[in-house]
Parts: sequence; C-alpha cells; structure tokens
Amino acid sequence: MTVRTLTRDQHDISRKAISSAALRTLYGLKEAGFDALLVGGAVRDLLIGVLPKDFDIATNATPEEIQKVFRNCRLVGRRFVIAHVRFGGEIIEVTTFRGSEGAGDRHVEEGGRILRDNVFGSIEEDALRRDFTVNALYYNIADFSVLDFVGGLDDLESRELRLIGDVATRYREDPVRMLRAARLKAKLGFTMDAETEKEIGELNPLLAEIPPARLFDEVLKLFLSGHALASWAEMQRLGLIEALFPAMRPAVIRRNSTFLLAALGNTDARIELGKSVTPAFLFAAFGWALMQHRLAERGSDMGKISFDDRLAMFDAAILDTAERVAMPRRFSLQVRDIWELQGRLTDTTPSRARKLVANARFRAGYDFLLLRAYSDERLHDWAQRWTDAQDANANFEAIFGAHRSTRAAELDFEPASEAAAAKKRKRRPRIRSAKPKVSAPE
Ligand code: ATP
Ligand code: MG
Repeated sequence: MTVRTLTRDQHDISRKAISSAALRTLYGLKEAGFDALLVGGAVRDLLIGVLPKDFDIATNATPEEIQKVFRNCRLVGRRFVIAHVRFGGEIIEVTTFRGSEGAGDRHVEEGGRILRDNVFGSIEEDALRRDFTVNALYYNIADFSVLDFVGGLDDLESRELRLIGDVATRYREDPVRMLRAARLKAKLGFTMDAETEKEIGELNPLLAEIPPARLFDEVLKLFLSGHALASWAEMQRLGLIEALFPAMRPAVIRRNSTFLLAALGNTDARIELGKSVTPAFLFAAFGWALMQHRLAERGSDMGKISFDDRLAMFDAAILDTAERVAMPRRFSLQVRDIWELQGRLTDTTPSRARKLVANARFRAGYDFLLLRAYSDERLHDWAQRWTDAQDANANFEAIFGAHRSTRAAELDFEPASEAAAAKKRKRRPRIRSAKPKVSAPE
C-alpha cells in the first residue's frame, strides 16, 4: 500500500484549530509512547476550512492501555470498543487501529453485516476499514504530517465522496453507511461517486435490519445539525426516506410538501440562529403530515372526527412514524403534547388563552402552529393572535374575545359555520420564523 504524506509545511492545519481536549489526548498518548493521530471528519474538515464537529483519535494503544494513560477514561460500545476520554465538558473518542484479519473479536452475520469488530491492526488496515476516502485521512501529532492511504486527498480536492473498497460489500457490512453518504453529501456539498450512489438504490432496504435506536441517532445527525433541507432532498433522491420511514410514502410527502419543507427549513434556521431544536418537533411534523394525508384520503379532517378517534389517530401516527426509527418516550410524549395543543390553539377563550400562554408546553405548540400557518393561510389569524398574546401587555379580551368565533369556524378543530366564515377578518398577519431559509426541490 502506498502512502501519500503531506509534511507540516504542505498543508494548513493549525493546532490552534484543534480543541485543547483533543490536543491533550494526542499528547498524552504520544508521551506514553504510543502513536496518536487525529482521524476522520475532523481532519477532512480542517483541510477544507470547516470547523470540525468533534475530534476523533486513532492510536496503536489498546483500550486497556488507553485507560491507563488517562484518569478520566471510560470504555464504551460493544460493536466497537471506544475509549471516551473526558476533559472538562468535552469527550474525545479514541479508537485502537482496527485490523482486517487476525486474532480478535469479530462477528459477521450471514448477509455480511458486521455485528462486532474488535480486531486490532495497523494504521494502514485501520484506514481501509473506514467508510469514505475523505474520512480516512490522519493527522499525526508526532510530526504534524497528514497521511493518506486511500486517495482521500485527491477526492477531497475534487470534492467527491467515494466509499473505500467494494461498494456493495461495504454497505452490506454496515447499511448505515448509506445514510452517512447522504448526510455527508448534504453537509459538505460534495458529489458522490457514481458507484457509491448507485448501490444505495439497490441496498437501502437493508436499513430495516439496523437497530431502531441507532437509526434514531443517525436521524438526529441528518436533521438536527443544520442541513435538514439538504439531507431531506438527498435522501428523497436516493430512496432513503421510505427506507427509514416506510409510512412516509411519496403521496404523503407530495400532499404535505410545503409543510414538511417549512419544518425542515425552520429547524435549519433555528440552528443557524443558535436556538434550541428538539427531535420531537421534527417527528411531530412527519406524523402530522401522515395524519393529514390519512384524513384527506377519508375526505375528513381533525374537526370532523371524535375526540377518541383523534387520540387513536395520534397513537397510530406515533407508532408508524417510529416504526424503524425508535423515538425515546420523552420525545413521543412531547409529540403528543404538540398535537394535542393544536386543538386548544385554534379554539379558546380569553381566560383559557391566558393560562395556556403561561403553560410550559405552550411554546412548542405555538411554534408548530406557525409552521402549519406557513402552508395553511386559514391559520394566519390564530398565529397572529398567539404572537400578540405573548406581549407583556397583551390584552387577552381584545385578542381572543371579539374575534374568537370568526376564524375558529373554518379550522380543522371546529365544525364549520357559515355565519362565522362570512365575518372573515382581513388583517395581514406577521408570521414569525416559520419561513424556510432556503427552498429545496421536492
Ligand atoms: P461529522 O462531521 O458528522 O462528525 P464524521 O465523518 O467525523 O462526520 P463520525 O461519526 O464522527 O463522522 O465518525 C468519525 C469517523 O469514523 C469517520 O470519519 C469514519 O472514518 C469513521 N466511521 C464512522 N462511522 C463509520 C462507519 N459506519 N463505517 C466505517 N467508518 C466509520
Ligand atoms: Mg466526527
């Protein structure tokens, strides 16, 4: 195997761009006599001038040896044993070079999926076990050189994602690599080598075999790291939406595309502004789209079904949305809250409104209402009222008294009334923050 080396003066990775926790870990290993190299996304990002999300380190020290070097070190993971070294609030993941053959603990399933991989090896072998060539670059703390065993530097130069080795085999070993391909393409704006892309269409059903909790983690990375719209577009193109969310058929997505794109765009915009995001909001949007589709197919809407039917519908939508992607219970409870609040946000009285605004769960319900208003103009007035209601001097009587019946009549959660519909209010609403920042193709 040939290695291409960039010496310290041939690249511009500066130690200043590496977190102090990562540097301390690298130097700690080096001083204990081990090889210590930064690897993976951090090296890739540093070389193209992107701020790394996290720093991963590879070493020839075994997990037990790593533990002896650092006091604050925990071994985690079964599939891959990883050492977590903690400095202050930062956790650095340290892995022992992984080998391809020889003694150790590896378990491969019949279909080719690797269930455990704790065979240790050389750095060259370690490079070959990584997913994409651009993710297999190493930064050596011993001499500040960059090492490339798989052509990653060339691919980085041409901004191309290329799987290392035989594409189908690598996806079979770990189908999550298909999601990583979509995510990294969306995040980095790279192109995908034709072979790397083609097989995804064939092999995406393999994602059904992945433990739902791992898929949940991947979904968070896809949709809650600031590239939700781009990830969504990429996943749609590659058939990965249906592989993860079988209930989200193309017809569901088409019918709700404005709403769904608004939800994804809103998530990206919040991250850009440094605001908090929760997976519950995203799952609430997916499930809501599903329910709207189901109701429309039956020629019905939320207002026409009974309270019990509505709750049953919520249950079914949560179950179907989380069929393959396990959503921890605290989030599914939030999803229910958000949905349940929608009824109360479009039918209220001044005194109930005052209590609702003070409720801890109000904010999520309100944000969701804004999102719905983005694709349903009948909701604009309600969105405006709840926006006004959050003003410190809000007059609830004025906001929710006189106009109460005017808009409620037309909405999902209320039976229609001709008289009320006639009194349609003309005021133009200001909808805050529901507008997607960028638009993506359907
Ligand atoms: P990000 O910028 O999102 O952190 P990343 O490439 O660093 O992207 P991580 O999940 O942090 O992603 O993984 C670190 C490195 O571990 C990757 O760059 C890659 O070398 C390797 N890796 C991660 N997941 C896999 C996988 N499923 N198969 C093979 N190698 C993987
Ligand atoms: Mg990383």
